Amino acid sequence: MLLRHTTEKEIDRKALTVNPAKTCQPVGAMYAALGVHGCLPHSHGSQGCCSYHRSALTRHYKEPVMAATSSFTEGSSVFGGQANLLQAIGTIFSVYDPEIIAVHSTCLSETIGDDLGQIVAKAKTDGKIPEGKHVIQAPTPSYVGSHVTGYHNMLEAIVKYFAMKTDEAKRQVNLLAGWVEPSDMRELKRITGMMGIKTVLVPDTSDVLDTPMTGKFEMYPKGGTTIPELVSMGDSMKTVALGEWGTKGAAVALDNQCKVPFDLIDLPIGVKATDRFIMALSKAGAVSVPEAINDERGRLVDLITDMHQYFYGKRVALYGDPDQLIPMCEFLLDLDMIPAYVVSGTPGKSFDKKMKAVFGDKIDQVKFKNGANADMFQLHQWIKQEGVDLLIGNTYGKYIARDEKIPFLRMGFPIVDRVGHSYFPTLGYMGGIRILEKMLDLLMQHQDETCDEEKVELVM
Ligand code: SF4
Repeated sequence: MLLRHTTEKEIDRKALTVNPAKTCQPVGAMYAALGVHGCLPHSHGSQGCCSYHRSALTRHYKEPVMAATSSFTEGSSVFGGQANLLQAIGTIFSVYDPEIIAVHSTCLSETIGDDLGQIVAKAKTDGKIPEGKHVIQAPTPSYVGSHVTGYHNMLEAIVKYFAMKTDEAKRQVNLLAGWVEPSDMRELKRITGMMGIKTVLVPDTSDVLDTPMTGKFEMYPKGGTTIPELVSMGDSMKTVALGEWGTKGAAVALDNQCKVPFDLIDLPIGVKATDRFIMALSKAGAVSVPEAINDERGRLVDLITDMHQYFYGKRVALYGDPDQLIPMCEFLLDLDMIPAYVVSGTPGKSFDKKMKAVFGDKIDQVKFKNGANADMFQLHQWIKQEGVDLLIGNTYGKYIARDEKIPFLRMGFPIVDRVGHSYFPTLGYMGGIRILEKMLDLLMQHQDETCDEEKVELVM
């Protein structure tokens, strides 16, 4: 009983969050920056912040995460961190030689009012940025938003800095990935490859945070979107942006700056959201959907049909990021499951509207909460009031799952006590099959372990 003090009775709380369903903005900014080839993330704040951001990513991806810090002291915390950042930029280029430094702010540097744009401009005029090298910057004050907001802000900064419109239109589609695993980014490229569409995927953390063991340390692994690819985005035919919370700013920036129109759709999780993704790609690239993709869809639908009895009527509690939660709820509803409780600490005005659109006349079945006060303590209280058959979310749910004896599907960020998420996608039709496999394993295992002896089935 690790959470023995969680009570069933809810007390109205306005100024207290217990076990928030989110983490810190710069973690997301760092993750987005790592998806650009030759880019070194830089945390403008104290060493403690940077250590936390790096370790959060390293623990999830089981890969070393390189990043630099402005190393604030008491002096810089009072008088400003400009001198630290200027010195850092010079040192980083001379010692670590990245193509790009991606600077994000922290709570401390935002609170004292450091202006990253002005400091980076000064670094340029002071000659601290070598010819052909780049420094981009994004604001990531962690006392608002979440890791997803930080990801969004850095992705927007990357696109704004590099994308350029020329007279030479390109037969290619920009694909903006919301916060997903390297395996998902690899899957997105596999799907667009099957469809024969040339795409620029940004960011792309495949071959950065899922690198093969070669015995050789690479400060800048071979993966990541390259600078020429980023520049070329301004000449693309269209942008397909996956996940409002992660990608909207970048999609709008490409439209405003380079007149590349965009489709902003959900992450392709489950049947319907993947259908929308495939149709958006087909339209953007002016290609038809190949039979091999139809076959993948057919296999997913076949699995749903074969195993429907195990999904039907099962109550589920979910927490995590809105871009994952919304299509995941839609998928669960398609399986005739009941997403009973949904919590996301990443704020966003359209969360309620999207949930209502997904649930339709079933909206009364679900309790949901979004924003800074949405926390896992309340989710646990709801579960105590009326139980669920499955819990879905990041590693932090394991205490609830253990106390309440609920099968627990790890999904989202961070997952620090299991592996697999970096290697096996959950996006697309094949990702849908993976989600179903994992859910079925848990539900059937639970049934095997808890049903009466005379009800143990050999064939399921
Ligand atoms: S102080 Fe702010 S930026 Fe630093 S680790 Fe904490 S939440 Fe993140």
